[in-house]
Amino acid sequence: MFPRITDYAHQLLEQRIQPGAHVIDATMGNGHDTVFLAQQVGETGKVYSFDIQQQALDSTRQLLVKRHLEQRARLFLQSHAMMDFPAESIDAVVFNLGYLPRSDKTITTQAETTIESIKRALRFLKVGGLIVVVVYWGHEQGKIEKQAVEQFVEGLPFPEFMVLRYQYMNPLNQPPFVLAIERRRRPTVD
Ligand code: SAM
Repeated sequence: MFPRITDYAHQLLEQRIQPGAHVIDATMGNGHDTVFLAQQVGETGKVYSFDIQQQALDSTRQLLVKRHLEQRARLFLQSHAMMDFPAESIDAVVFNLGYLPRSDKTITTQAETTIESIKRALRFLKVGGLIVVVVYWGHEQGKIEKQAVEQFVEGLPFPEFMVLRYQYMNPLNQPPFVLAIERRRRPTVD
C-alpha cells in the first residue's frame, strides 16, 4: 500500500539528514516533526523549531521530554518569517502548513509569511540541503497559500534549485501534497 503523504516527507528528510546536522522545523505544532528531526540529527545535531502558539511549544516540549530528546531541540515562540541563521548553516527545513489539529482553525499559516520564511530558508540552506513543505489546502486560507507557494517554487532558478512534488491524484477534498526544494549549487557568476 502507498504510505501517507507525510511519510514521503519524512523519507526525503531521512535520506538527507546525517547525525550532527542542524535542521529547522518551521511549524512546530504538536511536535511530531520536531521529535522525528531530533531522532535524525543524533546527539551532536540540533533542531530549531518555531511556532506562534504557546500551546505548540508546551506540547512539543512534553513530547521531547517523554522521548529523552529535549537536549537536541531549541524551541522558539516566534514566527518563522522572523527566523534568522547564518548563510549556508542549515541542512534541512520542514514546513507543515495549515492549523494546529484540534485547535483554533483561524490560527493558520499565511501565504505572505510562508513565502517570506521559505525565502529565508533558501539563504540558510547548505548546498545539498533540502526544504520540505507539506501543503494542506482544504481550508480557505490554504487555497490562497497553495497558489502562492506553487507560484514561488515554480519560479526558483534551475539548476541552482530543483523542485519535486509528491501528490496522490484521485482522492477527493483537496488531498495534501509534498513539495521538496533541493539546493544543488551556488549561482554561477559570469
Ligand atoms: N508539524 C506539526 C506537527 O508535527 O504536529 C504540525 C504543524 S500544524 C499543521 C501548523 C502549525 O503552524 C500550527 O501549530 C500553527 O500555529 C503554526 N504557525 C502558523 N503560522 C506560523 C508562523 N508564522 N510561524 C510559525 N508557526 C506558525
